[in-house]
Amino acid sequence: MKQTTVPPEAKKRATELQKTISYHDKKYYDQAEPEISDFEYDRLYRELKDLETTYPSLKTADSPTQRVGGTTSKHFKTLPHRVPMLSLDNTYSLEELEEFDQRVHKGLGAEKYEYVCELKIDGVSMELVYEEGILVHALTRGDGEKGDDVIENVKMIRGLPHQLKGINIPKRVEIRGEVFFTREDFEKINQEREEQDEPLFANPRNTASGTLKTIDPKEAAKKPLHILLYYVFSPNELPFETQKESLQWLKKLGFPEDPHHRLCKTIGEVHAYCEEYQAKRDSIGFDCDGVVLKVNSYQQREKLGTTSKIPRWAIAFKFAAQKAETTLKAITLQVGRTGAITPVAELEPVLLEGTTVSRATLHNEDEIKRKDLRAGDRVIVEKGGSVIPKVLQSLPEKRKGSEKVFKMPSTCPVCGSKLEREEGEAAWRCENAACDAQVERRIEHFCGRDAMDIRGAGPAVVKQLLDEKLIRDYADLYTLKEKDVANLERKAEKSAQNLIGQIDESRKRTLGRFLFGLGIRHVGVHVAEILATRYKDLWSVSEAAVEELTVIDGIGPIVAHSIAAFFDTASNIKILKKLEKSGVNLKRLKEEEPSGDQPFLGQTFVFTGELRGYSRKEAEDTAKKLGAKASGSVSKLTTYVVAGEAAGSKLKKAKELGVEVITEDQFNAMVKKYS
Ligand code: AMP
Ligand code: ZN
Repeated sequence: MKQTTVPPEAKKRATELQKTISYHDKKYYDQAEPEISDFEYDRLYRELKDLETTYPSLKTADSPTQRVGGTTSKHFKTLPHRVPMLSLDNTYSLEELEEFDQRVHKGLGAEKYEYVCELKIDGVSMELVYEEGILVHALTRGDGEKGDDVIENVKMIRGLPHQLKGINIPKRVEIRGEVFFTREDFEKINQEREEQDEPLFANPRNTASGTLKTIDPKEAAKKPLHILLYYVFSPNELPFETQKESLQWLKKLGFPEDPHHRLCKTIGEVHAYCEEYQAKRDSIGFDCDGVVLKVNSYQQREKLGTTSKIPRWAIAFKFAAQKAETTLKAITLQVGRTGAITPVAELEPVLLEGTTVSRATLHNEDEIKRKDLRAGDRVIVEKGGSVIPKVLQSLPEKRKGSEKVFKMPSTCPVCGSKLEREEGEAAWRCENAACDAQVERRIEHFCGRDAMDIRGAGPAVVKQLLDEKLIRDYADLYTLKEKDVANLERKAEKSAQNLIGQIDESRKRTLGRFLFGLGIRHVGVHVAEILATRYKDLWSVSEAAVEELTVIDGIGPIVAHSIAAFFDTASNIKILKKLEKSGVNLKRLKEEEPSGDQPFLGQTFVFTGELRGYSRKEAEDTAKKLGAKASGSVSKLTTYVVAGEAAGSKLKKAKELGVEVITEDQFNAMVKKYS
């Protein structure tokens, strides 16, 4: 290695930076009291990182660049909830709230009672456990009985106390709440992703859930998660008596406060609260799907009790899915990777649950017919919770006569070839594999996360590469030169280098990823992995006949045909040859080899006659455990027939077909060898 002498001022600066960054790490991660902005922090961090790259000897083991602030948790521990995290009873109707109130009234006899209304935040439920005032666990709801401890990520939530200070802190207290993103932050995250040409997140809730499960807390820290707490639990030690007081207690301890909750003395006030927030749900800044109504007094809650599934002292009033009227401007067609044509509703942009909706999938031709949707129609669109918007219905009474009935064209909107519809399928398909749209989708798929994982080649970049005629198929990616890419608009030199580097890197991907990346119809991640375990390289997969493929566990006849058809197509083979020439890995990697406990993988056993040591089922299970497939009938694809006493027709058939017949003892010997 080349030795570089380190100028003294560089060394001095690095030491300084290490100290400063460590200080801020502690502030941020351990005390949750950051003193500087993320931006400022990133600047310091990058400066240090650059110095250490230039002068590697500065990269000491205790440098903050070498560790994550706080502790890293590589795996999440699953821990039980001391009290199960239950669902809530829920209703969409105000009348049913009335009935709930009557049940409460009855349950409490003559006692007076009050409610607290809170918003039902549409996020991820979280249970914080504080022992002796210290945050020791942060559990997801999991299955309600036990959840994952994601404490390292939860600690990254700004403003969440890691330690409770004050008098009357219970020895152990569980505090439940909801983790979520504000809509503004969520949009920002997606905007950044769009600029980076990365796939967009679907909705704030899933993104919050994903962020909580991030392995590296530092990554989680980059996203501004929020938390609001709504339930405190600590038997016999509560420093308060009501929900309202518990929320005040939380506030005093420094937890973020929910400004929307309200004490309601009558069910009438509860109604008013529900109606008020139903109307203004779009302006509160985060997703919420209803109101939770809770009996205020803890003592009365005790009295009302809990069924096995839900507490009797709380209920959720759910907001109806939001609907809006707009104009269906046009129905366009999208051509997918395998040629499937999906009609898309192009809508006059309309605000729904805080987001602007301008497109919705219409699934297929039948759906459009069923709903009688016509271009130009006024339509009702709906968005329930955070689901993808859908077009509910058209409003025929508002038609002016100029609306156009949808007619599925007979040819592909992109390449003009004739569309086909297979028996029993909903989708029409462009069967032209060279169709520009399919080519584009295929390359996007090839570069995707679960395939070759070429991060720099998102949809926008792929499109540019195609438009500039720099590539025609995914194999061409590997012949790209830096100068080709550098010329692309929008692409600075540096990211171009990255792209080429990433493409280069992807040459080493597993056979499974590669097979998935090819985009063979019906071959998902799982089937691709099965193939990679079964075959040693791409060419052996390509030579496998349909009958051989069908025998493999997890691969049915449709998938097998699709695989065989792919390798029967000359243009595909041409691309594969190009990939091979470019040095892309086409071989099974060590990590994909059948594991030691699957030595019978790809073999099929048929048991016949009476076995001494096993029932038929036990014998089959034994073979299956070692990776084999067990079948009830003999064919030329059978690997072994295991013949017991008085074996009859199957034995005869095996002999006719030349299938190897073994005894039970021989079978035992094979099994023993591996277990
Ligand atoms: P559900 O999953 O529909 O049965 O509703 C129960 C879930 O609502 C809980 O697990 C919480 O995650 C969530 N929730 C959101 N806001 C509140 C709140 N203010 N009080 C209680 N639960 C809430
Ligand atoms: Zn086409």
